[in-house]
Amino acid sequence: MINMAKPVMGPEEKQAVLEVLDSGIIAQGPRTKAFEDAFAQMCAARHAIATSSGTTALHVALLAHKIGAGDEVITSAFTFIASANSVLYVGARPVFVDIDPRTFNLDVSQIEAAITPRTKAIMPVHLFGLVSDMDPIMKLAEKYNLAVIEDACQSHGATYRGTKAGAFGTGAFSLYPTKNITSGEGGMITTNDDAVNEACRVIRNHGMRVRYYHDELGFNFRMTDIHAAIGLAQIGKLDLFNRKRQENAAFYNAHLKGVTTPFVPEGYGHVYHQYTVRVPDGKRDTLRDYLKEQGIGSEVYYPVPIHKQKLYTQELGYNQTLPETEKAALEVLSLPVHPSLSQADLETVVKAINTFMGA
Ligand SMILES: *Cc1c(COP(=O)(O)O)cnc(C)c1O
Repeated sequence: MINMAKPVMGPEEKQAVLEVLDSGIIAQGPRTKAFEDAFAQMCAARHAIATSSGTTALHVALLAHKIGAGDEVITSAFTFIASANSVLYVGARPVFVDIDPRTFNLDVSQIEAAITPRTKAIMPVHLFGLVSDMDPIMKLAEKYNLAVIEDACQSHGATYRGTKAGAFGTGAFSLYPTKNITSGEGGMITTNDDAVNEACRVIRNHGMRVRYYHDELGFNFRMTDIHAAIGLAQIGKLDLFNRKRQENAAFYNAHLKGVTTPFVPEGYGHVYHQYTVRVPDGKRDTLRDYLKEQGIGSEVYYPVPIHKQKLYTQELGYNQTLPETEKAALEVLSLPVHPSLSQADLETVVKAINTFMGA
């Protein structure tokens, strides 16, 4: 079986975990601090704040920007549910804008029309490892005085015109095992804003500035040093992992026939969290079944856009049409692209797809 994901755990990760267990400091401690410093450096951001997951990173980032009841946050519906649900957690309303069909990211030409007096933030999702079109997003944010919270959960190390994902606004990353690097479970917030950094640290730890004095509502969203030790070992391998993903993608780009391969605009560094093709003529689901018969994993990210999820239609009353988002949900198929694939695996995938597509 050629799987969709395979976390790469080496002797460095194992050794690092054992050292933490022997150290006596198991919860958030010096490894978490070291991992935060390494992550901030990777992004060239001033600060990085570790959390318990990508979802809690988004949640804390929104709270740190004081987004709450009555506010609106503009985001994509073609993403994992946590992007929009984090907006619900703080009592605000996600406002969905359609995607650019070539990149699967927010169509920046449609954002301004969605801005209302209630809009407090734009949350671009850098889907599949490709950064959103950040120059126009940052311009709009400045014009309307909006926060920018990047859902960078799939784009560790991705670049846009020389800047890393997470270094434009406030970034939120996931360290779940299928992501480009992992800490087991975990998340990271990145920011250049000192006040946001301070707010995130307080919210993450029970709203506590001075021990056992609580001026505001906070949470326990801390990372343990066990997780941080794994993450610290992994971040040293991020460039290697991303390069391998890019090489795998380049092989697919050169050899796949009959499907639309990923579009990478000039000036973007795609890190292929997913390698996602479009399958024409309603053949997506039969191709997927065929690949499964051949022992090849594939996945549909995402079959139901967020504005069509029952939570949103039945509970929250969303009734919206997003043509490109809905079309993408019917056509996309993600193929194995993780760093552990062999040349033979890549050739097997290409041969199966080209045979099925009759190309
Ligand atoms: C993985 C992911 C999240 C959530 O991260 P967790 O670590 O699983 O909580 C949020 N947004 C996107 C786009 C993701 O891919």
